[in-house]
Amino acid sequence: MTTMKAIQIQNVGGVEVLQYTDVPRPTVSPNTVLIKNHAIGVNFIDIYQRSGVYKVSLPAILGREGAGVVEQVGEGVENIAAGDRVAYLGPSSYAEYTVTSANHVYKLPENVDFKLGAASLLQGLTAWTLVTQAYPIKKGDWVLVHAAAGGTGLLLTQIAKYLGANVIGTVSTQEKAEKALRAGADHVINYTTSDVLSEVKALTSNEGVNVVYDGVGKDTFDTSLASLRRLGWMVSFGNASGVTPPFSLLRLSEKNVTLARPALFNYIVTREEFSKYCEEFFALLVAQKVDIRIHKTYKLNEVKQAHSDLEGRKTSGKLVLEP
Ligand code: NDP
Repeated sequence: MTTMKAIQIQNVGGVEVLQYTDVPRPTVSPNTVLIKNHAIGVNFIDIYQRSGVYKVSLPAILGREGAGVVEQVGEGVENIAAGDRVAYLGPSSYAEYTVTSANHVYKLPENVDFKLGAASLLQGLTAWTLVTQAYPIKKGDWVLVHAAAGGTGLLLTQIAKYLGANVIGTVSTQEKAEKALRAGADHVINYTTSDVLSEVKALTSNEGVNVVYDGVGKDTFDTSLASLRRLGWMVSFGNASGVTPPFSLLRLSEKNVTLARPALFNYIVTREEFSKYCEEFFALLVAQKVDIRIHKTYKLNEVKQAHSDLEGRKTSGKLVLEP
């Protein structure tokens, strides 16, 4: 049996459950692709899976995206060949090799390196589908983005601005405020020193925003709802601070607001959907309409530090692992 290095968990818990260990190297089956990883993206979903907020069957190799070179393709795969440079979404990317569905593999443009490739797909396609599918931003909209200096937040900010919105971002530090402003936010609220709702009201002539993109969850849900104008849209897409508890639907009728809770993976079920959003997002990247900020690159065996940094709100932009 051929083995490889990977980050595996036997139980859910804190960073101590992340084990750098030897596991069997995966093999292809029909319609799948075997990729030798050169770079691996770290995402908040990895923390949910490690800590048990989202269930995975154990033992599990964590990680949901990466970039590298195709080693082998399974029967029936036509769009990808051995030797292709690719980025992909799929399970178990915290490893030297990953097998994933051919439907979720994208050939990298020539000028996109592996690190950028691994940093692009999950947060990039999330940001892109949130602003084009969940609530399509219209020119002149007022948009509130929480965690605007985070990996997804910096992309949401840049793309919302590109689409012509007035962007208000929230952040926890002055340093992050500067990064969100550099990404194009028109206004940034440091929620540790200012009251978000009063600032939003003041900036929008007391009307509120057309849409809130909220990946923080429990701590921001009420403020997000209160920040909306009549007929506004609340797009809740994550739970960095914890899962939002159940609430009364009647609250939506106070201003006839709409609540959406989208997950990227349900926008990209088919190969056609995945390819369309990849083409659209990479076109923006290659044309330098969006820029991906890499916070730091860690070795695969430094994954505990990467998780601690992301969970501890110490990061701005994308964290990448190298096998
Ligand atoms: P980020 O880089 O945005 O990191 C999370 C940020 O959230 C922190 O930097 C911090 O910013 C803010 N935050 C606020 N409260 C907390 C808290 N209690 N603990 C930790 N962080 C907190 O991560 P990602 O870009 O990977 O993910 C952002 C969100 O998007 C997550 O909720 C994630 O689940 C979601 N997501 C959802 C997807 C979907 O399909 N629905 C797909 C991809 C991501 P600050 O210091 O400024 O407060």
